[in-house]
Amino acid sequence: MPQKLLKSAHYIELGSYQYWPVLVPRGIRLYTYEQIPVFLKDNPYITDGYRAHLPSKLCIKSLFILSNETVNIWSHLLGFLLFFSLGVYDMTAVLPGAGASREDYVIYSIGLFCFQVCMLCSVGYHLFCCHRSEKTSRRWMALDYAGISIGILGCYVPGVFYAFYCNGYWRQVYLITVLAMILAVFFAQIHPHYLTQEWHRLRSVIFCSVAGYGVIPATHWVWLNGGFSAVIVQVFFPRVMVMYLIAAAAFLFYITKVPERYFPGQLNYLGASHQLWHILVVVMFYWWHQTAVYIMHYRHSHPCPDYPQSG
Ligand SMILES: [Zn+2]
Repeated sequence: MPQKLLKSAHYIELGSYQYWPVLVPRGIRLYTYEQIPVFLKDNPYITDGYRAHLPSKLCIKSLFILSNETVNIWSHLLGFLLFFSLGVYDMTAVLPGAGASREDYVIYSIGLFCFQVCMLCSVGYHLFCCHRSEKTSRRWMALDYAGISIGILGCYVPGVFYAFYCNGYWRQVYLITVLAMILAVFFAQIHPHYLTQEWHRLRSVIFCSVAGYGVIPATHWVWLNGGFSAVIVQVFFPRVMVMYLIAAAAFLFYITKVPERYFPGQLNYLGASHQLWHILVVVMFYWWHQTAVYIMHYRHSHPCPDYPQSG
C-alpha cells in the first residue's frame, strides 16, 4: 500500500486482551456503535469497528483495512471466486466428461450465475453500507436482499430440473411457480416500506416462505417416486435434508444475533453471527452444487422409464 495512505495507526481489540495495530488509510476512521448514523445501527452487540460517512472511493479502499465488515466482505468475495472457478471447471471438465446435454449446460450456467450474483450483491452491500449518503446505503441493502432471492432461485432451478427430470409437466409447473414467487419478492422489495424496521418481521416471513416452499416439490418428488423405499429417494433425500439443516442454521444465526448477543463487544471483528451466516450460505450453495453434479450423473446412468410418473 502506498505510504501516503498509511497515515494513522488505529488500535483495535480482538478478543478480550489482544490489541492489534491497524493501519488505516487517510480519511477512514472506525467508529463505535454510539457514534454511527442511525441507519447503520442494526446490531448493538457489535460495539466498535464501524466505518461511516465515506465517499464511494474510500468505501472501496476500506476493502483492505480491518473493520467489523472485513470478514463479511471477504467471505463472499472468496465465495464469488469459488463459484466462478466452479463454473469454469464445470464447463471445461465436469459437463463434457459426463456427456452433458445442452439443457444440462443451461441449468448449470443459471445455477452458478445466480450464486455469483448473490455473492456480488452481498459484497457490494457490505462494502458500500458505510456510504455517507443514506440513500446509497439503502439501495445497496435492497440489492443485497434481491441477491439472496437470486441465490435461492439458483438452488431451485437445478433442484427442480433434476428432481423432475422424467416428468416434464411437473418440472414446468414448479419452475414457473418458483420464478413467479421470486418475481413477487422483487416487487415487494420495491415497496418503500420493505426495508423499514416495522417490516423486519415480514421480511423474515417472506424469506422463510420462499425457502420453505421447496418442501412442496420435495414431498411431491418423494411421492412420485413411490415413497422412502425408492433407491433414488434414499440416495438424494438425505442430501436435501442436509441442505435444509444448513439453511436453518444459517437463518437462526442471522435472526438471533448469536453468539455476539452473549459476548457483546468481544466478537466485533471475528466470530459474529453475520459472518457465520455468510460462511454457511457459501457452504450451502457449494453443497447444493455438488448434489446437482451427483444427481446429473445418476440421471445419465439411469435413463427415464417409459411411463411418466417416476420423477
Ligand atoms: Zn451479509
